[in-house]
Amino acid sequence: MAEGFPDVDQSKPSIARVYDYLLGGKDNYAVDRAIGDTFTHDLPGSVAIAHANRQNLIRAVREIALAGIEQFVDMGSGLPTADNVHKVAQHHAPGARVIYVDSDPIVLAHGRALLEDNGHTRVIQADVRDPQSIREHPDITSLIDFDRPVAVIHSAVLHHINDDEGPHSIVRYWQEQVPSGSYFFISHFRSGGNPETAEAEALLQATFGRGRWRTDEEIRDLFGDLEILEPGIVPSSLWRPDTAEQLSRIGPAEHELTVWERLIVGGLARKP
Ligand code: SAM
Repeated sequence: MAEGFPDVDQSKPSIARVYDYLLGGKDNYAVDRAIGDTFTHDLPGSVAIAHANRQNLIRAVREIALAGIEQFVDMGSGLPTADNVHKVAQHHAPGARVIYVDSDPIVLAHGRALLEDNGHTRVIQADVRDPQSIREHPDITSLIDFDRPVAVIHSAVLHHINDDEGPHSIVRYWQEQVPSGSYFFISHFRSGGNPETAEAEALLQATFGRGRWRTDEEIRDLFGDLEILEPGIVPSSLWRPDTAEQLSRIGPAEHELTVWERLIVGGLARKP
């Protein structure tokens, strides 16, 4: 339970805590569970979306680590949950260094407790809309060597950034900071032109005052000049699936997925 953390407003729902609730976590308050229940009641696919996204992230981190990358910056990382990025990365690349970045104070509080004995991992409280402050943060400059390839992760966070807050320039900023051979993972809610998707977007807007689903073309544009790797930007459950349930998805055309499975897409790219 998330009781007793300083700077945490328990009267307002937070994106991080509602997402934690949808993933089955315990780091949430009544106000978050009420919103989470609204999501699951009105939008029964929300739990599946959260899990599909999380599993996509885990598979992407594994692939990046197996490609030899040992530095990860996870923007809008959310609360610690099963198979955290540092666990997956350090499992495949034991020396991997990982920075978690989130604006929600509860992420910092939990992360510090979780990572007390992990010298290769840090959590910083910062706003992804201000990438320069992240780049200059002492935890980043001490742990990440920007002369060597870095994996920059924006998983399910850029759809919380409005157009006038410059999501493209945020990604571009990081592209300019890292050397060739660096990796970028982005997952993003997609505007699907159907009532369920529109309802999900409206509910997020009404709850958090933000939520911008983007078209496939707009999501593609977020990657700029990066080289998008196979299988492209696809629904998260189709991104290099590896469980039996996910493998059973290989074959069906995308239109055979449920509307929920089509709602979140992921893509991995490399800086040439
Ligand atoms: N990245 C994790 C994942 O994919 O499983 C968590 C995704 S969760 C849906 C979105 C996270 O982004 C939340 O933890 C929220 O606090 C964080 N977030 C939203 N806007 C942010 C911002 N402007 N700066 C930093 N974090 C932000």
